Amino acid sequence: MTPHRIILWDIDGTLLHSGGAGEAAIIRTARALYGKELALQEIDYRGRTDLLIVRQIFTRFGISWSEESVAQFRNTYLDYLREEISHASGHLFPGVERMLSSIAEISGWQQGLLTGNFESGARIKLDHFGLGRFFGFGAFGDRWECRNEVARAAFDLVRERWGESLSAQQIFLIGDTPHDVLCAQAIGAYSIAVATGGYSLSDLAGYRPTLLLPDLEQFGPVLSLVKGHG
Ligand SMILES: [Mg+2]
Repeated sequence: MTPHRIILWDIDGTLLHSGGAGEAAIIRTARALYGKELALQEIDYRGRTDLLIVRQIFTRFGISWSEESVAQFRNTYLDYLREEISHASGHLFPGVERMLSSIAEISGWQQGLLTGNFESGARIKLDHFGLGRFFGFGAFGDRWECRNEVARAAFDLVRERWGESLSAQQIFLIGDTPHDVLCAQAIGAYSIAVATGGYSLSDLAGYRPTLLLPDLEQFGPVLSLVKGHG
């Protein structure tokens, strides 16, 4: 059956705060592989794909870009991420789990991921918080540096799965950064911005998301938006 609505979720800052596990894993990876100290504020992680973060680090330390060097970084990072997340003090944001459960029960609605995380990194984070079961598909940050490309891949993927007649007007992206809003706009989808990830309501308002919320505690407006469009 063709779903009527596709809801695509960002992870960090939207579903959960990893308690700094992702950043700590990146810093440890740079130290282990290159013997370099990366300061937290040197890299802007928010809304960036993991591949773009690797690009920034390689540029910073003069590491040459190749399939092998990227794979080495990714694999080392994933090992550290598993370790870091097990003792980080992360948490889910308010309302997230209730909203995921509510949507999961609506027939004809599908939830997936649209995240800058490497696919395995996304799974590590979601499984740690018990959210993996909500997501049967997704587009990830393994292949593209630009989030708009990840959004296009997500659009292609849902049309492959549910038919070419599926339009961008049936797709709703939920995220916490301007990049999430912009990538929704890039594919003509609706955007729901939440101010849980470090960008304020007024920062986000400037990018004109379809819907803007402080968090997902009261997610009624999201359900109304999704029901009313597409
Ligand atoms: Mg995010």
